[in-house]
Amino acid sequence: MSYPDLKITFLGTGTSGGVPMIGCSCDVCSSPDKKDKRLRSSILVQSKTTTLVVDTTPDFRYQMLRAGVKHLDAVVFTHPHKDHIAGLDDIRAFNFFSGKPMEIFANSLTEEALRREFVYVFSENKYPGLPKIKMNTITTEPFIIGDIPIIPIVVYHLKMPVLGFRFGKFTYITDANRIDEIEKQKVIGSEIIVLNALRKDKHVSHFTLGEAINLAEELNISKAYFTHISHQLGRHADINNELPEGIELAWDGLTLQFPNNIS
Ligand SMILES: [Zn+2]
Ligand SMILES: [Zn+2]
Repeated sequence: MSYPDLKITFLGTGTSGGVPMIGCSCDVCSSPDKKDKRLRSSILVQSKTTTLVVDTTPDFRYQMLRAGVKHLDAVVFTHPHKDHIAGLDDIRAFNFFSGKPMEIFANSLTEEALRREFVYVFSENKYPGLPKIKMNTITTEPFIIGDIPIIPIVVYHLKMPVLGFRFGKFTYITDANRIDEIEKQKVIGSEIIVLNALRKDKHVSHFTLGEAINLAEELNISKAYFTHISHQLGRHADINNELPEGIELAWDGLTLQFPNNIS
């Protein structure tokens, strides 16, 4: 089976508090550059026939409106932190227009958190207007959504396992500070990688800018984009200028379009 051509849209590229951060008047938070406005991290993945989103951030509703998404087939979750799940309730609009429950793909760790934090969605006593979902529990095994085959990559966020996802030539990894050798093998051969790069200073659960650069180079992937960026990293234009060739900071609204040509 050949892999479908994909379009990727960065819906958000900010860390958990977003950029600007509430109450902050630093250089980055007061920058007029639209590339310094970062909603919480999420991407839209589209083939000709299938549209899915990775994570439902607290900004999910606005991200869907801003990207003009009229139809959504599925949500795939990386991990249960609030900045990656909080917007789930707003899939209701897609239920309304499609008349169908939303397909949700999450590992058991994330599913447990969804059941706890959205208890009303899972309750036996349904009332009208509730979000309707269909849970698909994923593991480390490859799975497919519509015509898009997906390979989960296990990465670590301090001690929490987080799922990265490989879509043909494209790999998306967020909220990691470690990848084991065996999982790196699943990523190698990608032509484009997205990695989280929080800031320059060390952090317990996120790659720093330097660590993300080293990893992109070690994996020998020619094109890398960094996401989950903090206001502490610096202004987009300044930092982007310092990066090695082939590596860029992602920004909200950036789209990548590429043929996958994998048979
Ligand atoms: Zn996060
Ligand atoms: Zn996280």
